[in-house]
Amino acid sequence: MSARILDGKSLALEVRKECRMRVNALKAQGVTPGLAVVLVGANPASRVYVNSKSRACAEVGMHSEICHLSGDASEKNVIERLRGLNEDSRIHGVIVQLPLPARLRAHLILQQVAIDKDVDGFNWCNQGALSDGYPRFVPCTPLGVLRLLEHGGVKMDGRRAVVVGRSSIVGKPLANLLLLRNATVTICHSRTHDLARETREAEILVAATGLPGLIKADMVRSGVAVVDVGINRTPEGKLVGDVEFATVSEKASVITPVPGGVGPMTVAMLIANTITAAERSLSAAH
Ligand code: NAD
Repeated sequence: MSARILDGKSLALEVRKECRMRVNALKAQGVTPGLAVVLVGANPASRVYVNSKSRACAEVGMHSEICHLSGDASEKNVIERLRGLNEDSRIHGVIVQLPLPARLRAHLILQQVAIDKDVDGFNWCNQGALSDGYPRFVPCTPLGVLRLLEHGGVKMDGRRAVVVGRSSIVGKPLANLLLLRNATVTICHSRTHDLARETREAEILVAATGLPGLIKADMVRSGVAVVDVGINRTPEGKLVGDVEFATVSEKASVITPVPGGVGPMTVAMLIANTITAAERSLSAAH
């Protein structure tokens, strides 16, 4: 079997097209959605991500701001900046570009983003709402994965899903989303005994570890739907996922490529979440 490709690049273009229409509708009511990205320090990869988020905003007609703080900014400096953005009526979505310098406590700083502007969905209130089954803002990568699965016609109800990785950004919220779609969900992580025994049970398998080639063909069953969230750079500079694409795609029914799978969906969902925040602010005002 050779798997059907779940094409995140073209689906992300579709999402962005929908976003453009939603932005136009908001502008007609006098609201231009705005996203603020707080960047601390000069991590080159973070700069690339932040610039691509700004470009994506401009493309759909949104306002965006990059709030750049120097690498030696204190927690207080970052929190003060976040509080200002929380109060700024031109800004509907506020995110903090991760990773923050190690000396800053990211998990505490993220709690300072107002829950109605928390378009990354990292605030504990939004994480809690999701795990309670009443999602408000959901982290963008898991949301993108769900959209890819739905668009690809992958049935989730009653199926066995295995999520490899338990981060708050990807693995845990994704497991919650799959539960909400009535999948039977297993979460695996670095201390899981016999990972292959778990992954072989999966009808839907998501890999989100940052370990290139972790998932090999003998670890999956025939017909599995595979989503590869991993983004890893090889010593030759090539981007690869956590799944051995060439061999696993021979057994899977559907699979996401890297690049061109989950990655483009993440930015598209950030834009969509920010527009949702602007729409909610408008309905709250009436
Ligand atoms: P993380 O480092 O926070 O978490 C990695 C997870 O993998 C941990 O829960 C850990 O327990 C688990 N893990 C580590 N070794 C393992 C092993 N041998 N077996 C099973 N599980 C193991 O990373 P993250 O932020 O969740 O990101 C994971 C990957 O996804 C990275 O490659 C990251 O670059 C990528 N990512 C991609 C996007 C995107 O837009 N495509 C977004 C976020 C993250």
